[in-house]
Amino acid sequence: MCYSIPGKVLEVKDTLVTLGYFGEKRKARNELFAIACGEYAYAQGGFIIQKIPSPQAEAILDSWQELFFKLKEIDARLARHSETLYQKANQIRQQYHGNSCCIHGIIEFSNYCRNECLYCGIQHKNQAVRRYRMEVADIIDTAVYAVDTLGFKALVLQSGEDEYYDEKKLIAIVEGIMQKSPCLLTLSIGERTPDIFKLLYQKGARSVLLRFETSNPQIYAKMKPGHTLAQRLALLAALRNTGYLVMTGFLIGLPGWGKEDIIKDIELTAELGAEMFSFGPFIPHPDTPLAGEEQVSLETALEVIAEARIRNPEAKILVTTALETMDKKNGLQLGLMAGANSIMLNVTPPRYQQLYSIYPLRAGTDTAIESRIEFVIGLLQSLGRAPTDLGL
Ligand code: SAH
Repeated sequence: MCYSIPGKVLEVKDTLVTLGYFGEKRKARNELFAIACGEYAYAQGGFIIQKIPSPQAEAILDSWQELFFKLKEIDARLARHSETLYQKANQIRQQYHGNSCCIHGIIEFSNYCRNECLYCGIQHKNQAVRRYRMEVADIIDTAVYAVDTLGFKALVLQSGEDEYYDEKKLIAIVEGIMQKSPCLLTLSIGERTPDIFKLLYQKGARSVLLRFETSNPQIYAKMKPGHTLAQRLALLAALRNTGYLVMTGFLIGLPGWGKEDIIKDIELTAELGAEMFSFGPFIPHPDTPLAGEEQVSLETALEVIAEARIRNPEAKILVTTALETMDKKNGLQLGLMAGANSIMLNVTPPRYQQLYSIYPLRAGTDTAIESRIEFVIGLLQSLGRAPTDLGL
């Protein structure tokens, strides 16, 4: 975002580019641009996503110079302790990732859904929710604003499973964004055919966020009537084969879920080769069949992050909005200090944010994006984190 670091191209070998900044080196794949040594670029998640004119890049690097080393020191100091589970996880995160953090913007472009997931507030049977759809041009404009004006380098496009967006519309969205404001584009549109995802990859989408929700096939079948876990896992495998970075994970505390499921759920996330782990607490929605169900504690949700970090030191782990919703003041910080190193900010136009009510009272929906960004940058700096998730 406005909080991001460009790298200087040090080496180009076919599609593999080595970028450097302040003595550090990262490798990233370049499939979109003509690029030469000495030029500057932004990379995200291992992909070159934008070139940047040299004077501009040099000015940004100059302004980072002092802060860059100061942040590393703060992070290392905060990760000194390893007495508690959270501290142990945070120390491992620091050892394997340094102070690097990745930041995504998310655009929730439609709350129409053909599915009946029992836990979800926008499932199609819920008649209490006012439905909205953003038109293709509006989605592109929102993405362009997020990238060009707010400075995001990675965006997630999320919706219910809404067939209104057919192949043609989805292609127009991905193509439009990648031509106007290239970024690391993640699709979170539920299940579509592997062929549609292949076409969207060709147009420049590089990542998919699709949770398997639970590793327990019985719970899955109950929670998602008409669907099977096997079907979801087959799609995730196909997406990986296409070349997508896969972000996946599960809901913590679905009815029937027990603490013994934590390890199974974490193991499945790892087995799927997840680039980023995404798991959030299930928060009962009053207009769903699970309205009266119990919610896990914030401590349990944090334990899952910590446990996942200890078992998978190299993973990127997201602090989800659902976790933040459990403690709006401190949730983000607690997640980042329990082993997580990725965050997502909501850049959906404000008039739609409340309507995307997968669960009630979501964190961030009552604050303008500009002040959210200011708060998050302040928090990241106080924790010594820097946006250096450029690549490998
Ligand atoms: N339609 C897309 C995106 C779904 S919304 C898909 O199927 O992948 C994104 C995620 O929100 C879901 O994967 C689910 O894990 C989560 N979610 C839905 N209802 C929730 C609830 N009540 N509490 C917490 N998270 C919820």
